[in-house]
Amino acid sequence: MNIYGMTQSALKRYFEEIGENPFKAGLVYDGIFKRGIGAFSEFGFADRITKQLERDFEFELPEVAELLDSGDAAKLLLRLKDGEYAETVLMRQKFGNVLCVSTQVGCNMGCAFCQSGRLKKRRDLSAGEIVGQVMAVKQKTGSAVGGVSVMGIGEPFDNFGAVKDFCGIVSADKGLAVGRRHITVSTCGIVPKIYEYAALPSSYNLAISLHAPNDDLRSRIMPINKAYPLTEVLAAAEHFSEKTGRRVTLEYVMLGGVNDRPEHAEQLAGLIGSRSFYVNLIPYNPTDNCFEKSTPFDIAVFYDILKRNGVVVTRRREFGADVKAACGQLRADYL
Ligand code: SAH
Repeated sequence: MNIYGMTQSALKRYFEEIGENPFKAGLVYDGIFKRGIGAFSEFGFADRITKQLERDFEFELPEVAELLDSGDAAKLLLRLKDGEYAETVLMRQKFGNVLCVSTQVGCNMGCAFCQSGRLKKRRDLSAGEIVGQVMAVKQKTGSAVGGVSVMGIGEPFDNFGAVKDFCGIVSADKGLAVGRRHITVSTCGIVPKIYEYAALPSSYNLAISLHAPNDDLRSRIMPINKAYPLTEVLAAAEHFSEKTGRRVTLEYVMLGGVNDRPEHAEQLAGLIGSRSFYVNLIPYNPTDNCFEKSTPFDIAVFYDILKRNGVVVTRRREFGADVKAACGQLRADYL
């Protein structure tokens, strides 16, 4: 087992099973996450325990194959144990550093505007491999990680177990201690998993990639909509927000002439109604020739219509284009 993929409760159970004080789980967490220890021999445990830990676990971190740093953003290409690659992007924002992590190698969701899905899913990442992205960034860039967006390559809710464990591991007080309010998981809308996410004992933020205000259009650009149409997705989001008291973000990537017309904004406002969602307008990052960016004028009009209808709306700042790390641009060129 990779030690970086062990939740604290799993590690406690482990110590209990080998007849040791589960309190040691906290010591291990503190050592590997707070002090950066990379070998069991450095914990000062009795020989017998050290040997047992060495037999049962490994310190498996990815190799950094490439690091592009432009100052406000850094992209890391990481080589995993089996030779697959994962990408992660650090965004240095005014209010702190946020890391965007990947959850799969490739993606099966097939959204028309997204590069990540050009490579079909080859496999899920383990919780340890997602945590490994955080560790690699901290070690390589020396930057602190104050927040995590689970918005890199892959569909997090198509790898629910690992993503759930990842959230628990990075937020553990004794470990990396990333605040649960600073962890956001973004999904294309896999409805049953949104309910599972809402039922977790600890809650984190939820973002939903909406991108269209009606089923016709949404099904055309996001195939997942055929399985889970808009009304079901929004009902699940509403349930999440009632259950957790957290406001859900609806992401809306602005595609010129496709979903950015004034009538789309009116429709979106109607769809949201009085529900307290929060709409984030994302400038499209042109990655191939299929779509165009919306003009600043069209975005402003769209924004105003939402505002006028009482919808809470913001515009996302563009980040990392210079290191090919902007939204939807994550896709390894080497492939
Ligand atoms: N699979 C998850 C998380 C990964 S995508 C999801 O669908 O939410 C993270 C966000 O980037 C999503 O909102 C996605 O729709 C958006 N995105 C994808 N390609 C983009 C592009 N070319 N420009 C801007 N945003 C894009």
